[in-house]
Amino acid sequence: MESKTATPKEILQNVNTPSYWFIFKGNKMLVREVGHELMVPMISDPKELNIKPTRVHSLGILHGRQCYGIDVSESFSAPVGFSFQGLWFLYDYLDDELFNMAIKAKQVVIWDRTSAFCGRCGAKTKDRERERAKECPHCGFIMFPRISPAIIVLVEKEDKILLARAVRFKENIYSVLAGFVEPGETLEEAVEREVEEEVGIKVKNIEYFGSQPWPFPDSLMIAFVAKYKSGKININKDEIVDAKWFSHDKLPNIPGNISIARKMIDWFIEKQNRNRKINK
Ligand SMILES: [Zn+2]
Repeated sequence: MESKTATPKEILQNVNTPSYWFIFKGNKMLVREVGHELMVPMISDPKELNIKPTRVHSLGILHGRQCYGIDVSESFSAPVGFSFQGLWFLYDYLDDELFNMAIKAKQVVIWDRTSAFCGRCGAKTKDRERERAKECPHCGFIMFPRISPAIIVLVEKEDKILLARAVRFKENIYSVLAGFVEPGETLEEAVEREVEEEVGIKVKNIEYFGSQPWPFPDSLMIAFVAKYKSGKININKDEIVDAKWFSHDKLPNIPGNISIARKMIDWFIEKQNRNRKINK
């Protein structure tokens, strides 16, 4: 078994070499400040940071070291030389593997925090022995970590792509369309529905692109590329401020490197640059 939750005693008696500790307070993670760098704390025991965890989540092994996730209370203050930071901010400081482990840690720690009681009868839940899940000793209800699938889609029309500025975007950024999958829907149906709901057009040739866990708070983004089929852009003003077709050399402000949205847009830019070279 790759990972599970155990009592601190069980885990700590097995920790004797420094391990990575992903320590969360609210939505933020504790990092060590070394010069201009920010690092995941590597310690043998959280006591070194004056933390006595009540729950420890074993997350697996990275760079030859064990990884653990814990939650601390709002009253805990970061020790000198440490600070709590949001994962968005830490993307620029952690390598990809550590960042992905931080995403996993955050989803597990927050799920643990929010599933202490049975969703059906309200009794206190217990950890399942052989998998990361909780069971209600009173009614038998089983709760797995919550993951909410969302589709994200890059729509192509000849040599242009559809980018939109969503109402929820804080800055003047344009991105591909995205939305949560509804009960009973296939991923392809979710793609068709979201595009039609948000900008009023129909798409075809929906193809899988890739996926990305997105812990804000518990999404899994499933990315697709689709081709324009029919209709004119007619934005849903509740969700979208503006949407247009853009060519690869006249793009607006697009999302940062962290997101799969950016990977899709970069993929499109590269494809257009290749086509241009071939056509020269
Ligand atoms: Zn119950």
